[in-house]
Amino acid sequence: MGSSSHSILLIEGNQSDASFLVEGLRRLEPDLAEVVHVATPREARLHLMVQEFAAILLGVHRPQSGLDDLESLSEYAGKVPILLLGPDCPLELRDRFLAQGATDYLPKGAMTSAELVLLSSCLRHAIHHCRAIADLLEARLLGQHLAHHDPLTGLPNQRQFQHRLRQLISQARRNPRQIALLELNLDRFKLINESYGSDVGDELLRHVAGRLTSTLRESDTIARRGADEFTIILDGITRTPDAARVGNKLLTALSEPYQLSGNEFVVDCSIGISVFPGDGEEVDILLRHADSATSRAKECGGNSLQFYLPQMNQSAAARLELEQDLRLAIDRRELVLHYQPKLDLATERVAGFEALVRWNHPEKGLVPPDRFIPLAEETGLIVPLGEWVLNTACIQNRSWQDQGLPKVTMAVNLSARQFQVERPAEGIDRALRMSSLEPRYLDLELTESAIMTDAEVAIETLGHMRDIGVGISIDDFGTGHSSLSYLKRFPIDRLKIDKAFVQSVLTDNKDAAITRAIIGMAGNLDLKAVAEGVETFEQLEFLRRLGCDEVQGYFYGRPMPAAEACTFLAEKERSCVPRSSLLPSIN
Ligand code: C2E
Ligand code: MG
Ligand code: MG
Repeated sequence: MGSSSHSILLIEGNQSDASFLVEGLRRLEPDLAEVVHVATPREARLHLMVQEFAAILLGVHRPQSGLDDLESLSEYAGKVPILLLGPDCPLELRDRFLAQGATDYLPKGAMTSAELVLLSSCLRHAIHHCRAIADLLEARLLGQHLAHHDPLTGLPNQRQFQHRLRQLISQARRNPRQIALLELNLDRFKLINESYGSDVGDELLRHVAGRLTSTLRESDTIARRGADEFTIILDGITRTPDAARVGNKLLTALSEPYQLSGNEFVVDCSIGISVFPGDGEEVDILLRHADSATSRAKECGGNSLQFYLPQMNQSAAARLELEQDLRLAIDRRELVLHYQPKLDLATERVAGFEALVRWNHPEKGLVPPDRFIPLAEETGLIVPLGEWVLNTACIQNRSWQDQGLPKVTMAVNLSARQFQVERPAEGIDRALRMSSLEPRYLDLELTESAIMTDAEVAIETLGHMRDIGVGISIDDFGTGHSSLSYLKRFPIDRLKIDKAFVQSVLTDNKDAAITRAIIGMAGNLDLKAVAEGVETFEQLEFLRRLGCDEVQGYFYGRPMPAAEACTFLAEKERSCVPRSSLLPSIN
């Protein structure tokens, strides 16, 4: 006998009544899987223990025994409707049956066909009603689930998270232990969401939630706090480095490429950590401190973790002030460009300059880019700022050419955000036309991570830039994802070896090996290798022996204001070329 929700359990001591009912119901209700007949409530209880029924029909012969039978069944019947079939009875008694859990009381007279039709329709109604209640209950449970969970990822929501953290904190007050709170924020999520649509963004968030869940232990609590923010509780960590270990594990797990809608995406994250009780004893404070630490991790370039430090609160206020000032800086003409020369190692001539922005702050003095570029990227201010840099650098280069100085390239750094605006090549074209600079004298520097957010789109965008005729360099090569398989597909001209490798080529075998490999690879791919951060003659000679094409660094010249750069270019040219008398003299 298979269990079926369409089975009816008939409890009827009178055999001929039972046969009539079984036969009749089978005829009238062919959808019923079966009518199981038993003679006593005791037998019925045995069936109820092993099988599901859609309804119970209980034959009643005397009112009191009916009430007893009902009572003995109710515990086993659960939510299954019980319909009583018995002789006519006063209304009060009927009410007592209903009060005791019966769904309905139906008269059982001479067992006519009409009575059978009435019974079957009541039966159907009771089953339907019972289902509706079950559905309602399920919906309520679902509602309760939704009230505590994030509908997109299924993770607990912030409300549930705070409740849990509060519980753990009060336990930890009684039974002292440390609790780490990790706040995790995806780097550049907004960009993906805006560029590829919220469906891709949502899919990414679900993947992230899945990776978090599979990387962490079941006892850790993970919640989604906001758009691309996740919070994690590590309860009972014994030493603070344990939290760092878990954080690093998460950074690694999340930085693996994601396959979304047929595209490969690389998304890093920033993690901020605060620890109970050292960094705060209240939920709000711990969350705020984890938040400050996350901002700091982002400021450091992302893909990193930071523990909360008390001075971070101070820096949050300072940051806000800086942001407001930066908004006005372009209009107030407080930004300036310095130019750092790049030398061609074969000819010892200036191959070009890199334009590096500085902020001439009225109170703080000359602010280096590391202090405001990350903020500009985060706030979107990088787009107008970058446009100003591009225009100014192009105009400057053209102006040097107009003064009769040798024609060299001007390199301009493009941040990820500038690269991912709609049709970035148009802005470049505009800057070139406005300054009348030939495209071959402009070089764009992009980092691997800016490109690797979506490699296929990058190939197309770089293609458009290439069509214009500008040069393209990968900046800080070796520090990002270094996806070698893509390298040969990117239309690029130069690899700029990050200064971290260059500066220890003579002291660290591994850095020397990496530098050698990058130069070799660039040669094989027909790209120029540029070493940045060259500070000493020994480093320069080492790079020359490896076949490096161009160098940039303090050894030859620091980033300098336009007038100095102009002199540098003229003098360098004079010392290299005997025709120097043809060049105008620069004072
Ligand atoms: P970057 O593009 O890799 O620029 C090279 C950085 O290395 C510059 O720092 C330069 O001053 C420094 N450098 C060059 N030679 C040496 C050396 O021999 N030793 C040492 N220790 N450092 C050297 P800077 O000017 O502080 O710029 C830092 C970063 O800020 C740049 O790195 C670039 O990523 C960003 N940046 C600068 N200007 C702009 C800009 O206009 N737009 C954007 N998006 N980013 C910019
Ligand atoms: Mg650069
Ligand atoms: Mg660089």
